[in-house]
Amino acid sequence: MRSDATFIGVEVDDAAAADAAVAAKLTEVCPVDIFGQAASGTLELHEQNLDECVLCRLCMDAAPGRVRVLKLYDGGAEL
Ligand code: SF4
Repeated sequence: MRSDATFIGVEVDDAAAADAAVAAKLTEVCPVDIFGQAASGTLELHEQNLDECVLCRLCMDAAPGRVRVLKLYDGGAEL
């Protein structure tokens, strides 16, 4: 799954997004509430918060290789 705002895009691989344990971890670590969980436990991306990303990499540490933070203000460069 992927969601783009003005400055930041976030992409999470579909298997990770469907995994309730991964979704819970991402929801817990992001300081600006970009991730959440649907009632079924699957991951949700809060599009309205994407541009608040502080580039802390905590999501990438929580799910190595499964989350990409894209700097749309820098040609889509990966964090
Ligand atoms: S880099 Fe930090 S602020 Fe940005 S989405 Fe990941 S955990 Fe949230």
